[in-house]
Amino acid sequence: MMLSTDYDLIILGGGAAAFAAATEADRRELRTVIINAGLPMGGTCVNVGCVPSKHLLALGKGLYHPTRPDFASIEATTPSFDFARAMADKDLLVSALRQRNYQEVLESFSHVEFLEGRGRLIDAHTVEAAGRQLTGSKILIATGSSTRIPSFKGLEETGYLTHIEALGLERLPASLLVFGSGFLALEFAQIFNRMGTKVTLVARAPRILRVQEPEISDALRSCLESEGIEILTENHIQSVSKVAGGKRVNVTSKDEERVLETEEILLATGVRGNVDELGLEDIGVEVIDNDRILVNDQMQTNIPHIYAAGDVTGRKRLETVAAKEGKLAVENAFTNAGKSIDFNSIPYAVFTDPEVASVGLTEAEYTDQHGTCSCRTIPMDMIPRAVAVNDTRGLLKMVTHHETGQVLGVHILAANASEMIHEATLAVKHGLSVDDLIDTVHVFPTYSEAIKIAAQAFRRDISTMSCCVE
Ligand SMILES: Cc1cc2nc3c(=O)[nH]c(=O)nc-3n(C[C@H](O)[C@H](O)[C@H](O)COP(=O)(O)OP(=O)(O)OC[C@H]3O[C@@H](n4cnc5c(N)ncnc54)[C@H](O)[C@@H]3O)c2cc1C
Repeated sequence: MMLSTDYDLIILGGGAAAFAAATEADRRELRTVIINAGLPMGGTCVNVGCVPSKHLLALGKGLYHPTRPDFASIEATTPSFDFARAMADKDLLVSALRQRNYQEVLESFSHVEFLEGRGRLIDAHTVEAAGRQLTGSKILIATGSSTRIPSFKGLEETGYLTHIEALGLERLPASLLVFGSGFLALEFAQIFNRMGTKVTLVARAPRILRVQEPEISDALRSCLESEGIEILTENHIQSVSKVAGGKRVNVTSKDEERVLETEEILLATGVRGNVDELGLEDIGVEVIDNDRILVNDQMQTNIPHIYAAGDVTGRKRLETVAAKEGKLAVENAFTNAGKSIDFNSIPYAVFTDPEVASVGLTEAEYTDQHGTCSCRTIPMDMIPRAVAVNDTRGLLKMVTHHETGQVLGVHILAANASEMIHEATLAVKHGLSVDDLIDTVHVFPTYSEAIKIAAQAFRRDISTMSCCVE
């Protein structure tokens, strides 16, 4: 029996997953409402995530490179810098992109409404928000994620920043202790360091970016340390307290206890899905570890007409994945598409300078599966473009099937790794072999040639090779 409801689809949350879902719903002429509160329309990425962080990383490059020119013939200079102006420019960019990519998109929809309000499920088909009760045939939960707050002694009383407050600072702190070692910790450490803050990064893990290839973690660490970021790995914060002019942080490692003083603390300790106060327990939607909504490959929760997408599912917390999941959820909810995502060919990047980008299996993952590995690592100083432009920072590692030569993973540290990774992504997604890459003519000289040269390293000695030979 068809239910009579106010909407075909109610979407909780107004970020990437929600807008991708709404785009698909509008195309299908489904009566849809997006309910959003907390962050402004557009959610994390445009307001307090990808966009402002990438903008400030680019600003950091503009500040840093004149101080260390890549060419001996250029004299180093220190540019003058206006922090308040930089933050105001960042805010203008965010508003412009929010207007163009969300507000105007919303206005272009014919079947989608937007309701400002915090939504809560009061039964399996009804959402309460902004004093209204709305019924929907299908519901999509796309409420995103928030910083996971650790339980250090004294943290609440002492105060801390998350990325949201860090992006809203009115004054540049003299010093910043960043706690964490993932992409967000590293990007913010470099942003603030390059703007002139003394940055110390404290990580529990034995190395930064611990999901990455160890060679990449180590090389990136050297780059960050060489520009003055202090990095303490395998260190635990025991307690924090207020002192005059800042904060005191007690840190322990295997062999020592240290007391660090800092003006501000930035928590980059990972995120957890926004699963609280949604009424999920009352209607029986299954949540794992109080952190993420359990979904099957089709984005369906354990309640068949309720779907979830984006960071709240915790599958891979990326803007790209959120958008893909949102679209797939609608296709699957309203057709028999039964579509799912091949996570193995989803690339990601860390936008430090140099950048990190990866797709597919790492050496450790392949070795766990097969007990052997067929990998090649090449330093960027083997790449003619990198040598020509005096920026040979980084390396590229390729993981292939040990019998067939099929490309299964590529991991890059390089000046523009986030741009290079797409060729590798196509190779992984479409099962190309190293021979397919070798047979493909690449533009000379480019950083992307590193992918071809790594492929060649499986077939020949690349230490004596003239330009562009196959
Ligand atoms: C600093 C930073 C940098 C990043 N950089 C990148 C990058 O370079 N590339 C990349 O791919 N990813 C990046 N990410 C990750 C990316 O931003 C997220 O994966 C993506 O935004 C998740 O989208 P979403 O739709 O799931 O959630 P969100 O965009 O967070 O949207 C969820 C929305 O729902 C709202 N909401 C929550 N609860 C309710 C409720 N009960 N009722 C109504 N509304 C609610 C929230 O306030 C928010 O507006 C970054 C993240 C951060 C924090």
